[in-house]
Amino acid sequence: NRQFLLVRRPQGAPVPEDFRLVDTPIPTPPPGGFIVRNRFASLDPAQRGWMDDAESYMPPIPLGDPVRATTVGTVHASDNPDFQPGQWVLGVNALEDYSIALPGGFTMPIDVGLVPSPSNFLSVLGAVGLTSYFGLLDMAKPQPGETLLVSGAAGAVGSVVGQLGKIAGCRVIGIAGGADKCRRLIEDYGFDVAIDYKGKTVAALSAEIAAAAPDGANIVFENVGGDVMDAELLNLALNARVVLCGLISEYNAPEKIGIRNLWEVIARQATIHGFLIAAYVDRFGEGAAAMAQWVADGKLRMDEDIQEGLEHAYPAFMRLFSGANTGKLVLKIG
Ligand code: NDP
Repeated sequence: NRQFLLVRRPQGAPVPEDFRLVDTPIPTPPPGGFIVRNRFASLDPAQRGWMDDAESYMPPIPLGDPVRATTVGTVHASDNPDFQPGQWVLGVNALEDYSIALPGGFTMPIDVGLVPSPSNFLSVLGAVGLTSYFGLLDMAKPQPGETLLVSGAAGAVGSVVGQLGKIAGCRVIGIAGGADKCRRLIEDYGFDVAIDYKGKTVAALSAEIAAAAPDGANIVFENVGGDVMDAELLNLALNARVVLCGLISEYNAPEKIGIRNLWEVIARQATIHGFLIAAYVDRFGEGAAAMAQWVADGKLRMDEDIQEGLEHAYPAFMRLFSGANTGKLVLKIG
């Protein structure tokens, strides 16, 4: 049972020495529980936060434990009649070959016959797909004709938010890093405008947003924070809704970067609303059903960036911060 352990808390950007790959015996099922053979693991920006020694919506990953991750896999051995060997499951487990599922834990059966690949339960039907669904549709309530501005637009969450914005009848502007990602925003995801933020000052980026949205953005879906968010705040329409979903630009920063243009929220009588997908667990079924239908109808696509092998967990994870990932980042384990 290979396990990818967190052995030191990263200072700034994680380095290989913060982790260690070890081999341990395959565990046996605890009373009433079972063992999951992990097949695919979700690599998420949130894992960087769980590596810090800071209490948040989840406790920190204890040092010496495998890195917590949502996985899909099959039941390997079981002491629970509801989970027979071979059954596919989704749960909060870890970057390891085999995970122990305790009775009453967060592991649920999934029907992989519904999707082309079981990994889809980590992407379009998983937390990132549902983040886009509830974050945009439930929190921002987009109306036809409104302008939606999305940062981190070519990523897993951002690319789906943009497509859902189009389905809702919005004009959608995406901000992403590099010409290739900007091309994909238009060609693959149907955004109306794509803006490359790389190497631009707040003023220059703000001017580009203003040119694309002269009347300002009614909705900002924020995945990035920092300078990108500061440029967006200079382009709010009156009563704009800002969904604060992520701040990836500061996850590796030793000091939090902060936002300088908050005055604009006052001037534009805007609302900033913090979004956490964990708050929507009771409604996952509703969201997943809607997403599955749009995928089946050819109205929604989510690309997956599948990296192979637990031994490559570190470079795979770092793709999120270099921007190398093209779509939902997933680690194939076995
Ligand atoms: P993505 O697939 O979007 O991958 C991360 C992307 O972020 C990279 O590809 C890169 O794109 C961009 N990025 C990385 N570093 C920086 C930086 N310093 N400045 C600007 N952009 C950067 O990941 P996800 O879709 O999984 O997550 C996107 C965001 O959504 C994250 O902030 C995450 O924390 C948040 N999230 C929040 C949830 C919630 O419940 N609140 C749930 C799920 C995700 P580029 O090349 O364009 O720079």
